[in-house]
Amino acid sequence: TSGLMKGKRGLVMGVANNRSIAWGIAKALADEGAELALTYQGEALKKRVAPLAEELGAYVAGHCDVGDEATIDAVFDDLKAKWGKIDFFVHAVAYSNKDELTGRYVDTSRDNFLKTMDISVYSFTSVAARAEKLMTDGGSMLTLTYYGAEKVMPHYNVMGVAKAALEASVRYLAVDLGNKAIRVNAISAGPIKTLAASGIGDFRYILKWNEYNAPLKRTITIDEVGQSALYLMSDMSKGVTGEVHHVDCGYHTVGMKAVDAPDI
Ligand code: NAD
Repeated sequence: TSGLMKGKRGLVMGVANNRSIAWGIAKALADEGAELALTYQGEALKKRVAPLAEELGAYVAGHCDVGDEATIDAVFDDLKAKWGKIDFFVHAVAYSNKDELTGRYVDTSRDNFLKTMDISVYSFTSVAARAEKLMTDGGSMLTLTYYGAEKVMPHYNVMGVAKAALEASVRYLAVDLGNKAIRVNAISAGPIKTLAASGIGDFRYILKWNEYNAPLKRTITIDEVGQSALYLMSDMSKGVTGEVHHVDCGYHTVGMKAVDAPDI
């Protein structure tokens, strides 16, 4: 490694296990010398996250439920006391009731609509506001989105509507925070089999479809998302903000199913 992230410290939210996109990102950042803090959601995930944190020499900043402002404040109070400032923040968090990640969007309930928007959209803004205060020398913020924000994808439903709002938040936050040299970007990742993804109806079909139709003829890995995140979190992307960067083997560029794709 070249030590690209040496001297930089930051928070990564969203590691649930070693298949999480946040884990791919955390590994890439730590490999380049970044000092990390990880949070976990609930005691059940603590026992998974603690050994992963140890593997990277990362600090465990404790429980954080982004639906509970007091737990967000506790994490930032802790980081302020420990580090004084941070340089980056990664948000790899989303939630929707899986009963509504199948069937029709039109059947979305008000309760799950609000819950999905709260956890998957507002949480990025809410944490960004805390992170801003600690980014006294500028910084870089990142969230994770999906192509279902731009085009209708089967079963993605309310999560697609939430990701569209999340991508708009990236642009508004980029403008708000730009004068402090804080950059705000998103990675639009292709489908990967993670815990969250397993809640989406027919996910294996979606993976296969991407494999046949993406220009690179395969799906992406969490390590590849990590490498792209490294660019966005480091000074290599100093001139980039408000951007939604697709890391999807080129899938979003394709308008029609390939003629030679077998039936799936
Ligand atoms: P994952 O299940 O590994 O991670 C989701 C994380 O969200 C978990 O760590 C979970 O604890 C956390 N979370 C959920 N509700 C929370 C809450 N209230 N408070 C705090 N944390 C909470 O799955 P993943 O696929 O790595 O998801 C990470 C991000 O990537 C999500 O935003 C997801 O929408 C996005 N994404 C995933 C894919 C994919 O195909 N897997 C594609 C594009 C974007």
